[in-house]
Amino acid sequence: MKTFFKGVLRPLWSLLYPNLCVSCQIQLTYSEKFLCFDCMHELPRTLFQYQAGNLLEQRMKGRLPLRYGASMYFFRKEGKVQDVLHAIKYQNNQDLAFFMGEQFGEALRVCGWVDTIDVLIPVPLSENKQKQRGFNQSEWIAKGLGKAMGTPVNTKALIRTRDTSTQTHKNREERFENVKDAFEVIDWSGLKGAHIALVDDVFTTGSTLESCGIAFLKKHNIEISILTLAFAIE
Ligand SMILES: [Zn+2]
Repeated sequence: MKTFFKGVLRPLWSLLYPNLCVSCQIQLTYSEKFLCFDCMHELPRTLFQYQAGNLLEQRMKGRLPLRYGASMYFFRKEGKVQDVLHAIKYQNNQDLAFFMGEQFGEALRVCGWVDTIDVLIPVPLSENKQKQRGFNQSEWIAKGLGKAMGTPVNTKALIRTRDTSTQTHKNREERFENVKDAFEVIDWSGLKGAHIALVDDVFTTGSTLESCGIAFLKKHNIEISILTLAFAIE
């Protein structure tokens, strides 16, 4: 029932009542945007940006040489962060993706290390998927991040060369096999010696990000960081 609500009823509901909190559905006040004040403050922050060797960086150890890794919120099934991600994905809410990216960027800005990032690179969807969905959520998160951080977003360099079947029921090794070589850098301009940050909505096994990162390691001394809005935990 809950899935039915999230998948079908909620998108209809929000069309009728656009100014409701995307999580608890109460009417928003003038000063609130997308989420009510209470829900916004209940989103569980990771504070990874202050922790060298944080969980994300640990998960990528030995897989991709990473300069920094950070996520804004912990993602748990049925939690508020899932409500936000669902609203972005299934209601095509690119403004919400941008807004959440901005929040993340504001939180990162106080850390000096983010100033070393030259360019933000969202994880691309395949052309088919993007046509189906109409927009790439990672791109809009990156645009919000970029605005808050004053960092450009590059959507031209990295492409997804093939569709990958669903990742949901695969373990980490199977997921990596599935996305290996699925990405290619087709335009290296402005990337020589750059510190890039790959941007995605949620970090689960990290396989997709790993595969994207490997595509950049092939030349030009590129340094890689990872920024994801959410970080999945059990
Ligand atoms: Zn709320």
